[in-house]
Amino acid sequence: MQLCGFNMTVYLDYQSSKPVDPRVITAMKPYFYDKFGNPSSLHQVGDEATKVLDNARQAIANFIAAEKNEIVFTSGATESNNLALIGFALRNKNKGNHIIISEIEHISIHNIAKLLTKNGFTVSKVPVDQFGKVSIEKIEERINDKTILISIGYANNEIGTIQPIGEIGELCRKKNIAFHSDAVPAEGLLRLDMNTDNLDLLTLSSNDIYGPKGIGALYVRKGIKLNPLIIGGGQERGLRSGSENIPGIVGMTKAAEIVERETSEEVKRFIRYRDMLIKSILEKIPKSHLNGHPIDRLPTNAHFRFDGIEGESLLLSLKDEGIDVSTGSACSSKTLEPSHTLIATGLLHEEAHGSLQITCGRFTTEKDIDTFLNIIPGVVNKLRRLSPLYKEE
Ligand code: PMP
Repeated sequence: MQLCGFNMTVYLDYQSSKPVDPRVITAMKPYFYDKFGNPSSLHQVGDEATKVLDNARQAIANFIAAEKNEIVFTSGATESNNLALIGFALRNKNKGNHIIISEIEHISIHNIAKLLTKNGFTVSKVPVDQFGKVSIEKIEERINDKTILISIGYANNEIGTIQPIGEIGELCRKKNIAFHSDAVPAEGLLRLDMNTDNLDLLTLSSNDIYGPKGIGALYVRKGIKLNPLIIGGGQERGLRSGSENIPGIVGMTKAAEIVERETSEEVKRFIRYRDMLIKSILEKIPKSHLNGHPIDRLPTNAHFRFDGIEGESLLLSLKDEGIDVSTGSACSSKTLEPSHTLIATGLLHEEAHGSLQITCGRFTTEKDIDTFLNIIPGVVNKLRRLSPLYKEE
């Protein structure tokens, strides 16, 4: 398909970045010029912006079965994660100073945890099994009387493993501990329901549902108290000052509306593509292995390792063939370290380095999948012939 003007590119890295749906761009356009108001202004143009903001907040609340006043708009998932963890820790430190995360959280959560440990908090990391799942028992073992918050991603952004969020939430409720989840990889693919998920804080991003970058939200359950991190004019009920990004908020809302309407058909198509990828690669390429959970995985995610070759050489060879895939999280791609997620599932460094992440999305076609599947066995073979690490037997 023609994507980003690169009409020869087969783009299979939707987890790193998604194009903005053209319907979203159309919805946003009036809010840059014709409807440019600031909701803080008391005049007519300001009133119109207030109405738009109010409707958008309601729509995002509906998207996750929450209430309007439980939505705080932010600049994206990184900021939402910061507000959730740091904001909660600072506000509730009189109740305790212990936080639990998993070993495979997004880099933003790990780095926030690092900062908190330098500021008087202790953070325990729950291990995962070989498929990247956390277990309730392992979380429970780490809870102590100082535990105030648990943060576990809804689904992993690299290997796509879906976590037992409802059960973790039940445990948190029982123990009177707040529960946060970064839902970015699951958005638009799994039903996020604040009535049943027992979550207190939920991170959302706009780009992950084909909205613009630079806008996101944090769900804050009624009664949960946070310290704001950005101080100013007191917008967003004092939790996030700064003039609201109305075009971005309109875009995120339109993106959520499209998801609500189209997700069931779309997800069926993603599952078909994902299963074609998994079946064909494991059949056609000897010594290839699936990373992540065989069943509880995101509909768009296929993640493999190939004995004897480096994921990075594979990525670059595929790039030469006009195929864009990834070796892991775009947010950690500048480091030479192997993925912390793959290492946490028990892989050796060389196995983690031999991995490739393929994620499809709204504009992927069956032809893209076929093209990729026709090209990859030859590329793997060629690299293995050149690799001193690869032995056929
Ligand atoms: N959390 C997860 C799970 C992510 O995958 C990402 C990157 N898309 C982020 C947080 C950070 O998102 P952003 O760059 O929009 O702040």
